[in-house]
Amino acid sequence: PDRTLFDHLLNPATDPARLAIETADGGRLSYGDLRAATGRMANALAAAGVRPGDRVAVQVEKSVEALVLYLACLRAGMVYLPLNTAYTPAELSYFVGDAEPALVVCDPARFDATVALAGTVAVRTLDARGQGSLTEAAAGQPEEFATVARGPDDLAAILYTSGTTGRSKGAMLTQENLLSNARVLQAEWRFGPDDVLLHALPIFHTHGLFVACNLVLLSGASMVLLPRFDPADVLARLPAATVMMGVPTFYTRLLGQQGLTPEACRSIRLFVSGSAPLLAETHRAWEERTGHRILERYGMTETGMLTSNPYDGDRVAGTVGFPLPGVDLRIADPATGAPLPEDAIGAIEVRGPNVFKGYWRMPEKTAAEFRPDGFFITGDLGRIDGRGYVHIVGRGKDLIISGGFNVYPKEVEGEIDELPGVLESAVIGIPHPDFGEAVVAVVVADGTAPVTEAGIAAALKDRLARYKQPKRVVVVDELPRNSMGKVQKAQLRDTHAGVFG
Ligand code: ATP
Ligand code: MG
Repeated sequence: PDRTLFDHLLNPATDPARLAIETADGGRLSYGDLRAATGRMANALAAAGVRPGDRVAVQVEKSVEALVLYLACLRAGMVYLPLNTAYTPAELSYFVGDAEPALVVCDPARFDATVALAGTVAVRTLDARGQGSLTEAAAGQPEEFATVARGPDDLAAILYTSGTTGRSKGAMLTQENLLSNARVLQAEWRFGPDDVLLHALPIFHTHGLFVACNLVLLSGASMVLLPRFDPADVLARLPAATVMMGVPTFYTRLLGQQGLTPEACRSIRLFVSGSAPLLAETHRAWEERTGHRILERYGMTETGMLTSNPYDGDRVAGTVGFPLPGVDLRIADPATGAPLPEDAIGAIEVRGPNVFKGYWRMPEKTAAEFRPDGFFITGDLGRIDGRGYVHIVGRGKDLIISGGFNVYPKEVEGEIDELPGVLESAVIGIPHPDFGEAVVAVVVADGTAPVTEAGIAAALKDRLARYKQPKRVVVVDELPRNSMGKVQKAQLRDTHAGVFG
């Protein structure tokens, strides 16, 4: 019979005394404790009327109990559906309506609002300390629970995309999707039982939940589960860890800490970055300060991880490395799907056991995003260089077509970011009466040199073809980012929609 994802993550053969999770306040959970907790939680879910195959929608703060809830859903054959804690009740209402869960778990502070939108659906609570009606219900349950058999194609989770380019879509992820990806990463990144992962990412997203937690548990390793990312706290805890995974903002903010030295990183064997582009500048600065070359990888909610820079071998700044074993990745003509040659920019398309089953209740959208030969159109643009490294050029939706010419924002951003006084930039297309779309640069200064519209325009004159040069440059205090550190370009386009009057 198929062994389920749950049996791989909490393998019955793992020594129950082994440490699985350490919390910020020093709490310690062994694999045996974790297994027992998932048994009690699975019984509590069943007692609440949730059946195998039902969705459990969860909008709670990060805690050990939240992680137990995820594992209990796997164990009971239920479909785990985590939601960003930043969603308002109105947004939550869309997700609950769309997903039709059998149970909603929310923070006690949101109980009334959640009950009001959940209608007849059962609601239980779980707070940031892991307390609430769900925990109370689990406490009274036995720890024995017969793990529900699942096949490779059964859903393990529905994970909503980050909503960077439009309304979030629910990606249906199977047991096989999650297990295959965790196994590949385990081998690629050399995870073993002695690893200690410093975990400061949110657990409602693929990065913090599947990449981080599945990998740790599959390896029989342990993690230090922090409620949030705090640069000083993370720096202080680095010496207790062997691996850290972060979004690029983690790295830029840690670079702002005096104490970031090779000594502070002495026990670390691997720093991983993903979810948003890591500036080549950050990669270099990190190496200078710590002696470590950050390993950048690329993935998405729908597919898990797709590419990774090599563990052994050259980790090239500004690239996301090679397709992972088992992942077919090609660069195709966005219009026709025809494969493109080396170095040509096109649509990134992927196929593999990690690629999701489809968007929840969006059969047309699902059909539109797959090629007839089974490749999924990621929506990202990229190229593959002569050495096989994949370069992300940006999102298809962020491509600017100005006067009939394609402008890749990343190329323009790269030039602007090199200029003195510039911290970072975001280049967007704004509707323009003559050009269709015009290039607009939104720039953040770092205070080391004056940054003006005229100065940037002058500096770019000889660096970029005329059609790529920004028609307007707007200097701002900071770029809008979401909780995963992704720049919100749709929001920028709205904010600056009127620059051409
Ligand atoms: P939505 O699909 O709802 O618009 P989203 O694409 O931001 O939101 P996620 O699935 O969280 O939702 O993010 C996946 C995307 O993140 C990828 O398609 C890619 O654009 C970006 N990404 C992930 N890792 C990297 C990376 N290392 N470099 C550049 N971009 C990355
Ligand atoms: Mg996406």
